[in-house]
Amino acid sequence: MQKIAFDIESIRKSFPILNREVNGKPLVYFDNAATSQTPQQVIDVIVDYYQRYNANIHRGVHTLSQEATDAYEQARIKIQKHFNIAKSHEVIFTSGTTHSINLVANGFTSFLKKGDEILVSAMEHHSNIVPWQMLCERTGAVLKVIPMNLEGELVMDKYHRLLSDKTKLVFCNHISNALGTINPIKEIIDAAHDVGAAVLVDGAQAAPHIKADMQALNVDFYTVSAHKMCGPTGVGILYGKEAWLKKLPPYQGGGEMIAEVTFEKTTYADLPHKFEAGTPNVCGGIAFGAAIDYMNSIGFEEIAAYEHELLKYATEQLLQIEGLKIYGTAKEKTSVISFNIEGIHPYDIGSILDKLGIAVRTGHHCAQPIMDFYKIPGTVRASLSFYNTKEEVDTLVAGVRKARQMLL
Ligand SMILES: *Cc1c(COP(=O)(O)O)cnc(C)c1O
Repeated sequence: MQKIAFDIESIRKSFPILNREVNGKPLVYFDNAATSQTPQQVIDVIVDYYQRYNANIHRGVHTLSQEATDAYEQARIKIQKHFNIAKSHEVIFTSGTTHSINLVANGFTSFLKKGDEILVSAMEHHSNIVPWQMLCERTGAVLKVIPMNLEGELVMDKYHRLLSDKTKLVFCNHISNALGTINPIKEIIDAAHDVGAAVLVDGAQAAPHIKADMQALNVDFYTVSAHKMCGPTGVGILYGKEAWLKKLPPYQGGGEMIAEVTFEKTTYADLPHKFEAGTPNVCGGIAFGAAIDYMNSIGFEEIAAYEHELLKYATEQLLQIEGLKIYGTAKEKTSVISFNIEGIHPYDIGSILDKLGIAVRTGHHCAQPIMDFYKIPGTVRASLSFYNTKEEVDTLVAGVRKARQMLL
């Protein structure tokens, strides 16, 4: 992959949306943890697909179908290589992290019995809590929570003590979307394996910042959403170890996922098609591959170094505002800043920032248990990406100061 130098000016030129205005002000986009923006390189791939070779895949004899199938399968291989996955059929295309987690939670129904235990971390996204609660209801398994401390780090001693031969599954995010904490997932995975438990890591928030290595992590399942890493919405992957994917039953029935169908019996297709029922998001999969190419052309080390600088600068500047408190101060964290100002509701700050053209997220960030832990209704979250700048951070800081003046 040809690397381009980290040149923020030229990087920003790749994102047409960054030129737009909101409420008469230049857009400052700090909601990257909810969804990232799309570079022209990926937009071009999407347009090209619909202009030249839009077709259904895996079943046509005609040229367009062949071209679309080839591009889709090449995208699968790009994703395989990016995450250092041993076999391309261990990459299952899904509609994103939520779909991927539900696929696994559903598949475990027949493997669990009453009294088995599932451990989840205290800082999970709702999409990594609710499917396990549903699984517990179906099977009688019990959900136990790995606690966190005030800095927003998992209490690892407690984790090790919660593990036992009753533990069948452990679920944890790689990076918390609400706090930015980078969790020690290698330690979590190894300890779970020592008691014979399987591990699913929610990588939705990690994939835009870290190039995770599936074989080095030795994780059983890992999930990614393309739209958090410069790709389109509605597509993502489930990585699963081959042995697990062979054991799990199919999630949905339909076309594509069968080998043979009669009214008496259906046999299922081989991996990965067993889990890919129906016409997939063909264009989305191809564009996901292009997004991975784009991010690698900048380089994940370069991205991490730049975002770290930006995080440090934004944290220092925001903390100078009186009454401002940051939630999530883990030693290992990415460029997510969740904060509140004493006496002001986060929603009110968010609304004033929007008037100034600044996009942040306010609320519980699909992680209500974290808000309950801190006894707050929600936070203002500014999540920074490699295409943001220090000048934009200055605009944010000035906006928050203005909001504070207006609201207090
Ligand atoms: C965004 C996010 C999800 C949900 O991803 P979808 O693309 O909405 O399915 C899950 N977990 C984390 C940590 C996230 O940041």
